[in-house]
Amino acid sequence: MSFSELGLSDKVLSAVQASGYTTPTPIQQQAIPHVLARRDVLGIAQTGTGKTAAFVLPMLTMLETGRARARMPRTLILEPTRELAAQVEESFIKYGANHKLNVALIIGGVSFDNQDSKLTRGVDVLIATPGRLLDHSERGRLLMSGVELLVIDEADRMLDMGFIPDIERICKLVPFTRQTLFFTATMPPEIRRITEQFLHNPVKVEVTKAATTVDAILQQLVKTGREDHDKRDTLRRLIKSADNFKNAIIFCNRKREVATLHRSLVRHGFNAAALHGDMDQSARTAALDGFRKGETKLLIASDVAARGLDIPDVSHVFNYDVPHHADDYVHRIGRTGRAGRTGTAFTLVAPADGKAVAAIEKLIGQGIAWAGDAPTAEEQQAGARESRGPRRDGRGSRGPRPPSRDRSSSPPESRAPAPAPERSALAQQRTEIAAARVEERAPRPAPVPQQQQPQAESADASHLPAFLLRPIRARV
Ligand code: AMP
Repeated sequence: MSFSELGLSDKVLSAVQASGYTTPTPIQQQAIPHVLARRDVLGIAQTGTGKTAAFVLPMLTMLETGRARARMPRTLILEPTRELAAQVEESFIKYGANHKLNVALIIGGVSFDNQDSKLTRGVDVLIATPGRLLDHSERGRLLMSGVELLVIDEADRMLDMGFIPDIERICKLVPFTRQTLFFTATMPPEIRRITEQFLHNPVKVEVTKAATTVDAILQQLVKTGREDHDKRDTLRRLIKSADNFKNAIIFCNRKREVATLHRSLVRHGFNAAALHGDMDQSARTAALDGFRKGETKLLIASDVAARGLDIPDVSHVFNYDVPHHADDYVHRIGRTGRAGRTGTAFTLVAPADGKAVAAIEKLIGQGIAWAGDAPTAEEQQAGARESRGPRRDGRGSRGPRPPSRDRSSSPPESRAPAPAPERSALAQQRTEIAAARVEERAPRPAPVPQQQQPQAESADASHLPAFLLRPIRARV
């Protein structure tokens, strides 16, 4: 099938041709005609399947008629992270080269006023993270009653980050008659409920990522000591000896580790940048740009900051920590071996990590080979004993998730201080979720006249008990 059979406009087809794509991906083939027919679409697809173009291309075609009014965006795309929002904006710039559309990005961490003046000029496509969008709406600076098409992207990621109540509120602020395109990689019960509530007779389109993606990745486990300095030594040795090394993303489980490891690698003369949710937006953008352009060779990242990012040419992924949840492993290693290239993923395995590795092997349905020595039977037994007891540093606990979360989700990164040994994993997780949601919100100015019912003082207040929003002080 070719792009010309999908019903896209000539302007869009020539932009697609200019970008070098010849064949639509399965999600594009299946979704685009339905989007153009104004149907609601439920797309079950991960990043890497071409799902962004599956909604951007038909949206561009549809937006060729009509024009935007001040403060009333015509279409709205919700993304869980600022980086994903920026990535979607880039798609509009790339495929919309022949259109004169106003595209605005409304994300946390950057100037509110610049966003406000863009909204005043009228916006055809508004790409937003939920918290900042609600801020603009609550200040009466944005009216969602003109939205003809709503895209909810990476919905299961929104669930992980505690954004579902915000999504529900936004769905109630846009017209009932809008068209809705909803994308999620998995269908936990909360997501199913949302789709039943907010989609009208949707067409379901389901694609799985080509199995070759994982086949193209050489996966290896590497034995390491339990102490941080052991792990850093092992990592440096691996980077220096890696075959066909071009660049790498190094994943840590926590933001504090991202920052510490970054400092350590820079001290050892490596060309490295950090990417985590506590960095301000310009630092996050600079880190990503430098890595994309090849100026930075190592990007040390947390799951939240890096998941879903489309960086086509990454030769290596290093899991400095074994992820707490097996499905994060699949997302992490999927950052390499993209766009027809091969990649290598090394996972550092400390003595207490045996159980987490077993869960990963079960999920991916295969064993992962050891590079070098595998742990001896005695080491494995000692590690299993260690993982059953509390860790000396309080990390590595696989605490319970909040009741609403599905096993396919990953832990949101923390804005709170690193956990002290006394803190329970549940308390930590509550703080993290509340913090991730608060992070997107801008400081509140003096009230301005509202054009609609004022919302609760904080978007969170109506959904979260106040104690969840109070910072927890870590004892050190
Ligand atoms: P996404 O799943 O939207 O993150 O897209 C993953 C990657 O696939 C991006 O780098 C896109 O530019 C690329 N892509 C999207 N559509 C096509 C296509 N039809 N042919 C080849 N590559 C594509």
